[in-house]
Amino acid sequence: MTMHLDHALDILKSTGVRMTPQRYAILSYLLESMTHPTADEIYKALADRFPSMSVATVYNNLKLFIEAGLVRELKYGDDSSRFDADMSEHYHAICEQCGKIEDFDYTPLTAVEHAAAAHTGFKIFGHRMEVYGVCRDCSKAVTH
Ligand code: ZN
Ligand code: MN
Repeated sequence: MTMHLDHALDILKSTGVRMTPQRYAILSYLLESMTHPTADEIYKALADRFPSMSVATVYNNLKLFIEAGLVRELKYGDDSSRFDADMSEHYHAICEQCGKIEDFDYTPLTAVEHAAAAHTGFKIFGHRMEVYGVCRDCSKAVTH
């Protein structure tokens, strides 16, 4: 479940972050978007409305949102990080053809965390699990 915009704005306000039209637009875009956009995709989606905005502005705001606990960054080892405003526990299916990331719910795999702690002695803070395949749209495109 994605957080309601009003609630997200309250949280930001409580951290002392000043609201700007760009900041508001980036946050509401993320809350409405189900696509786990990259910073570049967010920039492109809002560039018409904010011609003076740069990708760096988008990044800086994303950093703020992450620090406020409103958004999480899904890193993929390059600069193609994707951003998710759904902070609930959920898992991701990733399309290997178009890169789409879709949410799905599954009982949290806490057993894996316990096993990891037992086998490695690590203090475990969490885990990320994703499955890979081909999405509905892409499999349709293949069979045509
Ligand atoms: Zn796809
Ligand atoms: Mn997600």
